[in-house]
Amino acid sequence: MFDKLTQKISDAFRFVSGKSSITEKNIDDAVEAIKMALLEADVNLRVVRRFVNATIEEAKGEKVLRSVDPGQQFIKIVHDKMVSFLGDARQDLVLKGPDTISAILMLGLQGSGKTTSSAKMALRLKKEGRKPLLIACDLVRPAAVEQLSVLAHQIDVPVYKEEGATDSVKVYKGALDWARKNLIDTLIIDTTGRLQIDEPMMQELSRLKEVSNPDELLLVADAMTGQSAVDIAKAFDEKIGLTGVVLTKFDSDTRGGAALSLKTITGKPLKFVGVGEKPEDFEPFHPDRIAGRILGMGDVVSLVEKAQEVIDQKDAQELQKKMEKETFTLEDWLDQLRSVKKMGSLNKMLEMIPGMAGQVSEEDIDKAELQTQEAILSSMTRKERANHLMIGPSRRARVARGSGTSVAEVSRLLKKFDKMKTMMKKMSKMSKNPNTAQAMM
Ligand code: GDP
Repeated sequence: MFDKLTQKISDAFRFVSGKSSITEKNIDDAVEAIKMALLEADVNLRVVRRFVNATIEEAKGEKVLRSVDPGQQFIKIVHDKMVSFLGDARQDLVLKGPDTISAILMLGLQGSGKTTSSAKMALRLKKEGRKPLLIACDLVRPAAVEQLSVLAHQIDVPVYKEEGATDSVKVYKGALDWARKNLIDTLIIDTTGRLQIDEPMMQELSRLKEVSNPDELLLVADAMTGQSAVDIAKAFDEKIGLTGVVLTKFDSDTRGGAALSLKTITGKPLKFVGVGEKPEDFEPFHPDRIAGRILGMGDVVSLVEKAQEVIDQKDAQELQKKMEKETFTLEDWLDQLRSVKKMGSLNKMLEMIPGMAGQVSEEDIDKAELQTQEAILSSMTRKERANHLMIGPSRRARVARGSGTSVAEVSRLLKKFDKMKTMMKKMSKMSKNPNTAQAMM
């Protein structure tokens, strides 16, 4: 995500960073390089001009040129401008309270990721404690209804569909009846999409808007299409009216143009981004965090949130206790390995760590090693994992056979585990008595 843009902007910062004083010429050079980077990222020309003018104006002020660290001041200005171009504060969904049924109309062209995003939204709302219903109103794309049903089943959310239906308004009305009887509080309507904007589609969507009186009208647009995503948003906003945008395929090699131009050109906030094909691959859009990622400063807040989502707080506390009481076993290690796997693509995580974007690739991480460890641990019995000291030579040979590894590898893992335990012992002693820290090192 944004790899090239991030790299180019880091290069631009070289004109100003690390210098005890900078000149107006340094600023001009840096801003020119940023301008080229933004144009290459397919940011709308009008947006680039505004960005450049606003940055230059502020950067050439006395405050920057005379400050102790002018390079840092300049980077802060670029960061703040970028946050403001991305939409300032996070804009969440605005839905009615739990006692009135809310509706979200998902709009977009075919292939934009509308059906997938509808399911992602449903999963998110379900996790927030709502009772969503997915409604299959895309009656044009042949497989859309079936696809929505499959996804709904996967995330265990009800779906309303009518076999052979041709009128989406009728389907909506049937769904509303069903929702009332089944204590549903949020309707997510997957609407008709076509390959391009045309009048019949807009008319159908207008009728659907009229009957459903939605709280949110979200356009689902493909970030990979750059500026054309922004044009589509403009057209939908003029014809139907939008409350926000969901940009999909943010995980692909998007150049950034759509995200950076959307708010300025359409005035509509980006509310969510799709970051993969799975229902969980959906993130709220935070302008400040994304600006941080674009500028290569990382996004530690999202990283921590992601970790918290998969690592149950109770589990984490239990782990801490085990470390303190020195009862950490191979079973716990296996749990840990599985948690790491649940966190998803390591690449996505690395991008969130400051200074890591584009520096380390997934291949650099020894995934094979993690896999081998998991295989070995899984081949042990529960009893063995609870007490590793019982794993003598014949058990090691059995575990090696079961995991397709060698006795040497099994022994290496057990040695590593002993080392881990020694480390943990030291750490927990240190945290109990900070004064011993020095002596332990
Ligand atoms: P629709 O025609 O707008 O309903 O589009 P779909 O929901 O069927 O999505 C089209 C394709 O894009 C499917 O193959 C999805 O798996 C894929 N897709 C949707 N959202 C994302 C995303 O955020 N990231 C990636 N990588 N693929 C996505």
